[in-house]
Amino acid sequence: MAGPANIGGSRILLRKLREIMETGGEAQQRLDRLVAMIASTMVADVCSIYLTRGTVHELFATQGLDPAAVHRTRLKQGEGLVGLVAESAQPLNIADAPHHERFAYRPETGEDPYSSFLGVPIVRSERTFGVLVVQNRVSRIYGEDEVEALQTIAMVLAEMVASRAFGDLSGLSEVEARASRPELLLGRAFSDGLAIGTAVLHEPHAPLGRVIADDPVEEERRLEAALAQVRNSLSHMIDGDPGRISGVSREVLETFLMLANDPGWEVKLKHGVRAGLSADAAVERVRGEHRAKFNATRDPYLRERMHDLEDLDNRLLRALAGVDGATSQAMPDDAILIARELGPAELLDYGAERLKGVALEDGSNTGHAAIVARALGIPMVGMLPGLLSRVEAGDAVVLDGERGELRLRAEGQVISAYSQRLSLRSARAAEFARLKDIPPITTDGQRMTLLLNAGLALDVHHLDEAGAEGIGLFRTEFQFMVSETLPRLESQTLLYRDVLEAAGDRPVTFRTLDLGGDKVLPYVAAEREENPALGWRAVRIGLDRPALLRYQLRALISAAAGRTLRVMFPLVTTVQEFDAARELVDRELEWGHRHGRSAPLKVEVGVMVEAPALAWAVPDLKGRADFLSIGTNDLMQYFFAADRGNQRVSERYDILSPPALRFLKRIREDAENAGLQISICGEAAGRPLEALAFTALGFRRLSMPASGIGPVKRLILSISAGDAVSAVEDMLNESPASIRSELTAFAVGRGYAL
Ligand code: PEP
Ligand code: MG
Repeated sequence: MAGPANIGGSRILLRKLREIMETGGEAQQRLDRLVAMIASTMVADVCSIYLTRGTVHELFATQGLDPAAVHRTRLKQGEGLVGLVAESAQPLNIADAPHHERFAYRPETGEDPYSSFLGVPIVRSERTFGVLVVQNRVSRIYGEDEVEALQTIAMVLAEMVASRAFGDLSGLSEVEARASRPELLLGRAFSDGLAIGTAVLHEPHAPLGRVIADDPVEEERRLEAALAQVRNSLSHMIDGDPGRISGVSREVLETFLMLANDPGWEVKLKHGVRAGLSADAAVERVRGEHRAKFNATRDPYLRERMHDLEDLDNRLLRALAGVDGATSQAMPDDAILIARELGPAELLDYGAERLKGVALEDGSNTGHAAIVARALGIPMVGMLPGLLSRVEAGDAVVLDGERGELRLRAEGQVISAYSQRLSLRSARAAEFARLKDIPPITTDGQRMTLLLNAGLALDVHHLDEAGAEGIGLFRTEFQFMVSETLPRLESQTLLYRDVLEAAGDRPVTFRTLDLGGDKVLPYVAAEREENPALGWRAVRIGLDRPALLRYQLRALISAAAGRTLRVMFPLVTTVQEFDAARELVDRELEWGHRHGRSAPLKVEVGVMVEAPALAWAVPDLKGRADFLSIGTNDLMQYFFAADRGNQRVSERYDILSPPALRFLKRIREDAENAGLQISICGEAAGRPLEALAFTALGFRRLSMPASGIGPVKRLILSISAGDAVSAVEDMLNESPASIRSELTAFAVGRGYAL
């Protein structure tokens, strides 16, 4: 049997389809003619259309099966081969359908004699409306061109269903072509904040009704013009790139430009246009292929590449829609961006001014976009399964970055409840802003120092905005994580210098690379480890492979020329490890000296207390280290033997329980006896109740995320450290359980600002 094994085949199908649509007639008749036409053009014995109504896939039209089965045969979600195609949203091409494990026999259809089966999903805007099937008696696998032709037809069909081109078809109104009900999607909070706004799709769709080309020659011309526009705008961005995150975006753009100039991409796009699709539809098809490959691959490097390709497809679609530039689509001023996944450069392209919030179907809390969103203060919710198939551009959306929820098509009452929460938040923010220049001193005169945790140059503006007295933890690995390739010495130096300059005379503590564990770089092949948190990470990598660490120290030393350099090492477990790391600093200082480089005025070398073993070795650090900082995130995960990233266990144990608090107190006392400055820099320091406990344990330096500074300062200004000390002492002596509720009651009773 000869299928339409070339572009001409698709084009004939599309021309005939258009004729059927133009001849008018009743909707059912047109569907019937459509299946007959597809069957004859593709030389298939059967062609059927199943559309999804609620939770069933219903046979709407067939050529070849028993006509009496139309509107009678209904397959439940996931049932049979049709269910499989709808569920996977992928074509299914098999030679021996009746023996497939998912085959569901329906006697009323009379489909016994047909062996080969090709089913493709009818999808638009990520939503599957149904399945288009051809079947043949002979047992064979359909050719690639036939699959492509059927997918092209399915794409047009989806378009017609969505635009109601079939008019009044029995039960069609129940085919969910457009989501309309309010929905609540539960995901994960990636970046704190609330937003009420309008959904804007990051991945645009070909406009309705523009799927089949009126004039293929004109479509090819449009495609070429759009391609040229995308390539030019990428080149311009590279030339004009001011190195916003120290050259990172330049590297991203260079990779994009390379992919944009790949002839393979252009050939594929042109193939679609020559087959009779509009330029927009051809791009959407290619994007579908990239997405399918993305979904099918586990390799993080390949996934990144596929994501880049999808991003280019999106840029091209925007160019075709007459929108200039990468992400400069016209947007409402209350835009909530909806995307499957977002790169850090893309988020920066949109910019904080244009976005109220971001919702991602995938993403991860430690992902690059989440890091940048937190730095920019844009609320973000991620890991929202089914998001793209449920949201429509223009939907009213409520994004809750506190709880990790997204409400689609929210109605009046819900919106007004959130508006109230929003105004409460802004009132609190205004109160914190008033406190920013007031030093944090307790009512009994204890001076605290509140510092910022940062990781990107973008974070530094929080110093002024939040009123922090310096950066207590600068996580240098963030630059490496948001970069496409290993940042070079110059871009590292540039970033550190920018940060020091922005901080002025406020101290900045740089932590050397803390990679491994949950922090992986896409461009460095990492060995899989059974227990990454207990594995080869942080300073362990730095000491075993000192080149990268020495490079970084060289960059830090050169950036801090003429100033104080404060540097500390993560996850040091033994005093010997600290000595070895410190020795690398000395060697780099010597190197700088030999090469006539100007040196920092002063160098202070510190260490994170994250491994319990080091916590018991604090007295031995006397005279070796200059300062300590307790990383409670890691210290508590090792203390309680509970993975910090696994919610099931991470919330099971409380840092406010006596064993943990006694442990922290002991570390503080040992540090002070050894004459070592000590601070706490885990997330817990940014929570008022925990900050109260730490103050009571005698800590005076706390470093925290920007969002914690205001609330913690407000608390400090309201407490008496002396009273807190005796209250916490009593609580620790009285019960072995967490003191959380008792401490809360004490604070509330005293009128402390929790
Ligand atoms: C910590 O472990 O507490 C810490 C501050 O480091 P990170 O969260 O980057 O591991
Ligand atoms: Mg840590």
